[in-house]
Order: sequence, then C-alpha cells, then structure tokens
Amino acid sequence: MSGREVVDAFRAYLRAHNQPVTAQRLAIAEVVLRSDRHLSAEDVAVELATRGDPVATATIYRTLELLVKSGLAMERDFGEGFRRFEAARDTPHHEHLVCTVCGRVVEFREERLDRMTTLIAEEHGFARQRHRLIIFGVCGECRGQPGTGQSYPDSA
Ligand SMILES: [Zn+2]
Ligand SMILES: [Zn+2]
Repeated sequence: MSGREVVDAFRAYLRAHNQPVTAQRLAIAEVVLRSDRHLSAEDVAVELATRGDPVATATIYRTLELLVKSGLAMERDFGEGFRRFEAARDTPHHEHLVCTVCGRVVEFREERLDRMTTLIAEEHGFARQRHRLIIFGVCGECRGQPGTGQSYPDSA
C-alpha cells in the first residue's frame, strides 16, 4: 500500500468503528504511516508542530492506539521508558538494533533466527509461535564510523 492508501485505510477503519474522522487524526496517521522511522508520541508531536499543525498530546496517544488496533501500525517497546510506533507496511517480521547513545533504530531480517528459535523452543518442549529480539549497542556513527545498511536517525 502506498502512503496515501494506508491513510485512506485508516479513514475507512475509523468510519467502520464509528470513530470521528478528524483532520488531526488523519494528520497523525499520515506522519506515522508514511514514515520509515520508529516514532515516539513526542516525535509525532514535534513533526506536527513543525508543519504548523500542533496537536494535543492526548489526541496523539488516542490516535496512536487506534492505529495499532487497526493493524496499520505496530507498537514497539525498546525499554526506553516510552513506546515507539512504526507503519506495519508489507514488510515481513524483522528485528531491531537500538543505539544506546543516540537512540537510532536499525532494522534487520535474519531467517536463521527463525530456525534457531524454533529449535530452542522445541528443545524446551515449546511449539514456537513468535520471537522478538532487540540488540542494544552503540551505532557506527556514535563510534565515529560510517554506518552500514539501512538506518534511520530516530532521535534527532
Ligand atoms: Zn548512535
Ligand atoms: Zn521496525
């Protein structure tokens, strides 16, 4: 789905659930769903204020909840004391690296992890359903080295 289509999908979700479709809700959806980043509620507030469209924090939190319920966005907890949100997109399951210095979040996919976690689960008599991995570390940029792969500066 393109950026516009996902915002339309959110509009349809609100209508189907008898939720008011407001310009502010759609603006919040647009910020989150059209971004490649993992945004905190504060990031969304700053982005909207920068656009000259400040939105109350309570409205942002409520709309983020609705975005998660609609399945269009995913909630992430990287143990930072606040939640982050990313567009669900069409991307398969992925893991995250989080820089403990600048807060940068980098995504990666590794099929071997799926196989490995299946084996570990089986060894313990579990039927594996899903897993979640967060690698904390210091990114290349914070170590004075050019980064590799895709990376998004999630905390400016
Ligand atoms: Zn960093
Ligand atoms: Zn992600």
